[in-house]
Amino acid sequence: TTDATHLPRSALLFLARRPGLESAAMRLRPFRRLASRFIAGETLEEAVDAVKALSARGLMASFDHLNEAVQTPEETREEVRQYQRLLARIDVVGVRANVSLKLTQCGLLFDEALALENARTVVAEAAAHDSFVRIDMEDSSVTQVTLDIVRQLRAEFGEPHVGAVLQSALRRTEQDAKELCAQRIRIRLCKGAYLEKPDVAFPDKRDVDASFVRTMRVLLDSGMYHGIATHDERMIEAALDHAAKRGLPRGAFEFQMLYGIRRDLQERLVREGHPVRIYVPYGRHWYPYFMRRLAERPANLAFLLRNLARG
Ligand code: FAD
Repeated sequence: TTDATHLPRSALLFLARRPGLESAAMRLRPFRRLASRFIAGETLEEAVDAVKALSARGLMASFDHLNEAVQTPEETREEVRQYQRLLARIDVVGVRANVSLKLTQCGLLFDEALALENARTVVAEAAAHDSFVRIDMEDSSVTQVTLDIVRQLRAEFGEPHVGAVLQSALRRTEQDAKELCAQRIRIRLCKGAYLEKPDVAFPDKRDVDASFVRTMRVLLDSGMYHGIATHDERMIEAALDHAAKRGLPRGAFEFQMLYGIRRDLQERLVREGHPVRIYVPYGRHWYPYFMRRLAERPANLAFLLRNLARG
């Protein structure tokens, strides 16, 4: 029921923002073991191996180097170098993959100009490799500045090289979708993984889903190539229905799912001829990402608690 899932979700999302817990939690074996389902490894090469395996199953990928807690300009520059290595490696290996980048990783929380400069360096590298950077969306305190930076980069580099993410949980999202489409900015639509207040976000899951469907229709009607990112079969059916109604060919948009979640559904969509991209996170700082995945599904938490109790 809603009540039974609401409390653990808020608690886990709260704990996700407590980096102090990170090192203690990451030492627990059952915690690490469950995390390894959702994280492709701690190094670039482990992630590349995971993407090769996905590729063999007909899936595309988007690499994400996890690191939300950067604190100094030097750390942000190390993130930029990581993405430069990543984009070069994707080219050499020849897998169908792009990259996802968080602006907090580029320094957004302490220096907006630096964040833009870092993101610009990554998008320039992607453009040089004829690749694409998806700027992930984080909590609502940075929605506006994130979209402003994507607009700026889109103006500099063009539609095929950078795109945004919108979260259907936010009340503003349908309107944002219309504006971004008018500016020809490619969008990944997801539900939203952060803890938000009711003044900015729909508290009720039914409203989040209804907003997802409305926004999905805006995207599919725009004539551009967008990503529909969900594991919710009802959302996927709604997208397929709308595409059929509009006579859109397969490949007019892509489905996107997270590494380790609903492999059966990923494969079914590929078999049916739809492009499917898997978001592949890797790196040492996987704690907040993993906590958001735990929060999404109480069964994950129950599984973890059983294993921790067993020791
Ligand atoms: P839900 O209604 O949450 O789940 C539907 C079904 O999916 C569940 O019943 C279950 O079967 C399965 N499922 C969902 N989550 C899990 C899980 N953790 N473990 C096991 N099964 C699960 N959020 C952002 O805020 N910003 C982003 O930039 C962002 N990028 C994303 C990129 C991709 C490719 C995807 C797929 C998601 C992204 N998200 C992002 C996360 C998203 O916002 C949701 O939190 C997440 O996808 C769960 O929502 P859902 O659409 O799958 O629907």
